[in-house]
Amino acid sequence: MTTTLVFVEHNDGTCRRAALECLGAAASLGGDVVAVLCGPGSADAAARAGAHGAAKAVVLAGGDAFSPDAVAKDIAAVAQDLGATAFLAAATSRGKDLAPRVAAHLDSVLFSDCTALSNEGGALHATRPWLAGKAIAHCTSDGPVFCATTRVNSFPVNETGGAAEVSERPASTDGKVKVTGLAAKESGKLDVAEAPVVVSGGRGLKDPETFAILDELAAAFGNAAVGASRAVVDAGWRPHSEQVGQTGKVVSPNLYIAVGISGAIQHVAGMKTSGTIVAINKDADAPIFKLADYGIVGDALEVVPALTEAIKAVKAQG
Ligand SMILES: Cc1cc2nc3c(=O)[nH]c(=O)nc-3n(C[C@H](O)[C@H](O)[C@H](O)COP(=O)(O)OP(=O)(O)OC[C@H]3O[C@@H](n4cnc5c(N)ncnc54)[C@H](O)[C@@H]3O)c2cc1C
Repeated sequence: MTTTLVFVEHNDGTCRRAALECLGAAASLGGDVVAVLCGPGSADAAARAGAHGAAKAVVLAGGDAFSPDAVAKDIAAVAQDLGATAFLAAATSRGKDLAPRVAAHLDSVLFSDCTALSNEGGALHATRPWLAGKAIAHCTSDGPVFCATTRVNSFPVNETGGAAEVSERPASTDGKVKVTGLAAKESGKLDVAEAPVVVSGGRGLKDPETFAILDELAAAFGNAAVGASRAVVDAGWRPHSEQVGQTGKVVSPNLYIAVGISGAIQHVAGMKTSGTIVAINKDADAPIFKLADYGIVGDALEVVPALTEAIKAVKAQG
């Protein structure tokens, strides 16, 4: 019988969508799903986890809730006490920090950034992009606990309407990493890794001032985040938190619009699993067009404002 422990990440009781997707991924392994949560608001988040497929929830009460080494040690202890066969976390910044530590405590390997999971006669399998997305690997392990992180926007959110049986255990207070403060990010801004629509810009947008036309396009969609190529981030036009690609974030939105981005392999590695890809580039031979479902050959500084107006007009019609 499979028992999957899922780290449910939340902000003051509001579960991150990626965490709910991770509960959806756990369902694909069958068996029991148990959520593990920490930090302020965990009771509320545990209830939400119950409504999304967790039969039980373990709240790590108090302690160093933001210290990855302390939390990882506690999660591993919960997994061992439960006799968990699998441990999952979403491949968010926090999940990527925690999951390898949990796997190490459990003397197991970690399959990172998985896009599918399955249970084949009791053997758990992971599917994950490899070599910057050039190959797809199908993996299994004979480690004691199957550990994986799940790629954001790759699994469904299953609203089961259930209720989790919630228990508490005291969290460790001996974390080596001491988080002394947390700063809330600019309110209302969607995370590029979780937004259903991503509007990404590259060097073709000329400078930071003209890059701002993408903020307007994202605002017109209403549910979009702005992403950036590394060239733009290295130039200081946009923060690294917006970088998409091999050394940035991996995104998989329903719609990805690449504006003035050439389509270098390292960029493509971070967005090739997006649902629909639209490219806007003045060079008809830009590699990004090979990947795009729709392409517009033209000057971004003319095409983007026109697109923004068109989207506003469609939205105004309801
Ligand atoms: C180890 C390593 C890791 C890397 N990691 C990443 C990563 O995570 N993410 C990433 O993005 N890159 C990454 N890179 C860099 C990557 O190789 C490219 O250099 C980078 O993606 C290029 O960014 P760009 O497409 O914005 O710029 P460019 O390659 O300069 O392309 C600009 C594009 O804009 C078009 N253009 C110009 N003017 C206009 C206009 N007016 N209207 C429309 N189009 C226009 C041009 O035709 C061109 O296609 C990495 C590189 C290395 C070596």
